[in-house]
Amino acid sequence: MRLRSGATFGGDEIAICAGPCGVESAVQLDEAARAVAAAGANVLRGGAYKPRSSPYSFQGLGEEALKMLRDSGERHGLGVVTEVMDPRDVEKVAQYADMLQIGTRNMQNFPLLREVGAARVPVLLKRGLSATVQEWLLAAEYIVLGGNEDVVLCERGVRSFDVATRNLLDISVVPLLEEMTHLPVIVDPSHAMGIARLVPPIAVASIAAGAHGLLIEVHPDPPNALSDGAQSLTCEEFERLMRRLDAVAGIVGRSLPRHEAQR
Ligand code: PEP
Ligand code: MN
Repeated sequence: MRLRSGATFGGDEIAICAGPCGVESAVQLDEAARAVAAAGANVLRGGAYKPRSSPYSFQGLGEEALKMLRDSGERHGLGVVTEVMDPRDVEKVAQYADMLQIGTRNMQNFPLLREVGAARVPVLLKRGLSATVQEWLLAAEYIVLGGNEDVVLCERGVRSFDVATRNLLDISVVPLLEEMTHLPVIVDPSHAMGIARLVPPIAVASIAAGAHGLLIEVHPDPPNALSDGAQSLTCEEFERLMRRLDAVAGIVGRSLPRHEAQR
């Protein structure tokens, strides 16, 4: 599976999607984009439309953020993945993004799944908060049946009885889905853990388990982030993680992206 930008999912090359939870300004986004590209990521992630539990929290900058994502992605040679929440926005988001993210809270938003199924842009389908593997795969079927076969699954942890971490990462789905589907599977350790210092070891474990990629939140100034600061890596922490990942990828016969733009 290949994005317009050239990034691939499901092959020997791991996809590294990194960037801030939310796009907060052109400066914040570009600083993150420059850093993650220099560290070897190949896809820029950032939210323009944020699904927040509270309506009083930062909701995202909308189309302005989409433009910033496009600009920074092009400037640093990165593909762009961003969430779309509303079926009415799919066409607009697809004009700016190389990949459409369906968030956890929308995994079973069937009208939205049908709409991205009709789009000609790859889709990143996050696992629902309490979705079984079967429900998740059936959600993917909605997209594929719509004519869009470019679906990547993203495990990001499920709700559990335990609140010691933000969610409970189900790393077992990585080898399980390898048996059940041809769709690539990536892991988001940031939303799974909710605690930045726990993200690197779980990212490493995910690649060791065979994940085809990672989604990692990186912010130039996590303490002042407008969303998900507690789980966001600094640019320096992300760079250190990438060096660890390089070694682990080799052990499982994979490689980090050959992303020359900023190296
Ligand atoms: C996100 O990727 O920032 C996000 C909101 O993730 P999730 O849908 O997994 O909670
Ligand atoms: Mn987030």
